[in-house]
Amino acid sequence: MGKKTGHTIYIGLGSNLDDPKAQVLRAVELLRGEKSFTRVTLSPLYHAPAWGVVNQPPFINAAARAHTVLEPEDVLDLLLGIEREMGRKRSAKWGPRCIDLDLLLYDDCIVSTERLIVPHPLLVERAFALKPLLDLSSRLKHPHTGRPLAEYLNVLEADAKRMKKA
Ligand code: ADP
Ligand code: MG
Repeated sequence: MGKKTGHTIYIGLGSNLDDPKAQVLRAVELLRGEKSFTRVTLSPLYHAPAWGVVNQPPFINAAARAHTVLEPEDVLDLLLGIEREMGRKRSAKWGPRCIDLDLLLYDDCIVSTERLIVPHPLLVERAFALKPLLDLSSRLKHPHTGRPLAEYLNVLEADAKRMKKA
């Protein structure tokens, strides 16, 4: 980190309020508009049942890959800025949201600060994050274990089967 050679990042996108598909596409547009992010690539979009707190509308989920010279916490700040710009109000944990942007992976780095944990701690429990991520790059490995992320998705097959391309 710190060298100006550029890093590959993966961002998880989710929305379940106010035309979720449009919200996700709008967020990608804003990611593409950031001059610190280049080569922004979007995965397929999926319908996914709400996770964690289940009595809320289903989600649209996707993942994006980008390249950046920013440090991880600066990436987080940009993502939180886009959430704010799109009018996200923080309410209940895991409650409905017009947009959620999570930093899933930053190269194969492990980051753990008060504000930021990478890889995202719930990545391997969430089919809605893993599936679009693996659509973008099927050979990604978990930074902690070195195991293919595809193995983690296999374990979540029942959840993955409930996701439909949007
Ligand atoms: P969630 O995504 O779990 O539903 P929020 O979007 O409300 O929760 O995020 C709350 C906080 O999580 C953010 O303000 C941020 O500081 C912290 N956070 C820790 N690690 C990450 C990460 N990898 N990506 C995004 N936010 C993170
Ligand atoms: Mg979040």
